[in-house]
Amino acid sequence: MEKRKLAIGHLYPDLLNLYGDRGNIQCFRKRLEWRGMDSEVISVLSGEQADFSKLDIVLLGGGSDREQRLVCEYLLKIKDEFKAYVEDGGVVLAVCGGYQLLGRSYKTNDEVIEGLGILDLETQWQAERLVENIVLKSDLFSMPVVGFENHGGRTYIGEHTPLGKVLFGNGNAEGAGYEGVVYKNVIASYLHGPLLPKNPQVCDYLLSKALKRKYGEEIALEPLDDSLEKAANEELYKRFVG
Ligand code: GLN
Repeated sequence: MEKRKLAIGHLYPDLLNLYGDRGNIQCFRKRLEWRGMDSEVISVLSGEQADFSKLDIVLLGGGSDREQRLVCEYLLKIKDEFKAYVEDGGVVLAVCGGYQLLGRSYKTNDEVIEGLGILDLETQWQAERLVENIVLKSDLFSMPVVGFENHGGRTYIGEHTPLGKVLFGNGNAEGAGYEGVVYKNVIASYLHGPLLPKNPQVCDYLLSKALKRKYGEEIALEPLDDSLEKAANEELYKRFVG
């Protein structure tokens, strides 16, 4: 049988790649490889056109306000195709600036950056940045989700389902109590760090969704030795939550 293979699209890594967001792609690739599956990375650089029909997973990373302003021009050109991909169950991981740009708008101090409007949410910038370790409890995973946040934007998610409840840290906004959004096969989150190597359960969740969409059947992912990640997760939980 031919090896199963997923195509991972990295959107605008020349503008959106803060705090090692690229590590999320390495994590997808390694966890496929360790299970005898293949992957390819298709980097879509600014000015290039993304062909969503060729993609099984899309990563939209974080960026500074300046980079977000620049990337918005390119994103708006692929808005309809991106939305159609999401509505069709395409897998997306959007981190921080990428998360904000999936929403309707990001209002900074002096301008409104138009987002894709794929998620019905809004972000408002404030001068005081939220910089903190963060621990969440998500209904999707048995283990807590751990990471690091660093954002000026506060995201108001309206009726959307959050990724998790904040046990330590800030999340969507201080006092909001929740972090991120889950919509269809999209996970959008403020967690850098990067998110997936620290949280293999999140990685496998997205891989399963992408494999099912591509191959039309549930593909069981063999367990891997995640003892190191589990130990680190427990340590962080103990330190920050108690
Ligand atoms: N520029 C955005 C903010 O400060 C996103 C930052 C990021 O991606 N880390 O909220």
